Amino acid sequence: MAYLVDAEDFALGLVVAGIICLFVERIRPAEKNTQYFKKDFRKELGLAVLNALAVLPLLTFLISISIIELLKNYVPYQMFDETLRHLPLALQILLALLIMDMSTYWRHRFTHNYMWQYHAFHHSAEEITWLTSLRLHPVDYAVALLFDTMVLYFLGFGGQGIAAAIVIAQVYNYFTHANLNVKFRKPLCYVLASPHYHRWHHATDKSAYDKNFCGIFSFLDVIFGTYHHPEELPQAYGLSPRDQKEVPAGLFAHILHPIKKDLRKIFRKK
Ligand SMILES: [Zn+2]
Ligand SMILES: [Zn+2]
Repeated sequence: MAYLVDAEDFALGLVVAGIICLFVERIRPAEKNTQYFKKDFRKELGLAVLNALAVLPLLTFLISISIIELLKNYVPYQMFDETLRHLPLALQILLALLIMDMSTYWRHRFTHNYMWQYHAFHHSAEEITWLTSLRLHPVDYAVALLFDTMVLYFLGFGGQGIAAAIVIAQVYNYFTHANLNVKFRKPLCYVLASPHYHRWHHATDKSAYDKNFCGIFSFLDVIFGTYHHPEELPQAYGLSPRDQKEVPAGLFAHILHPIKKDLRKIFRKK
């Protein structure tokens, strides 16, 4: 799983992806005015480093001594460790991607419905680049890690297929966030998400709210009624004007912002 990889590999992957994206995003940018070192570059990079070097190791440790220990007693059979490992590799990868994206879809939808104040950190980006894919509030990141750990525990961590699927899913996440003017035509747009498709997930236009939740397979959005794919690019990205105005400039102030809001709500209720 992308979130359970070794911290050093994860950091190295970030650097390599950044160097590749530096060139790829210049080829055909969706937003020509977006610079590589954009306004929120330091905030997004800082968050990625914080999640990779502090939140990830801490949560991995906590999950391994709690959730995994608990699941061990109830999940004796892990599909990928047993049956699926004997399938051709390409089929293993496809199956793993499908199951993982189904989990991504519902986890993402869950955060929109029940944890918006935390997931809004991801949506507060006004310039979307590959780095925005790593812009997750530590609480949002923790929920993603928990969801993915459970799904992958049921599947089984072993096997080349699932390892390859984890890497592909992460790279695809960079691709759909990249500042690229790349759109899939019919019928491919009903099957796979493109950068154009995910840009609509980040659009300020009200018609785009709570749409395009998938990571890779847009047919999940088609099936569950959240598919949104206008021909043109969105006019703007970010939160509603009122919410965007509230976004603090600094990284730590921004991390604390939804926590403070939640605490205020709890204490006001009492
Ligand atoms: Zn979202
Ligand atoms: Zn996104």
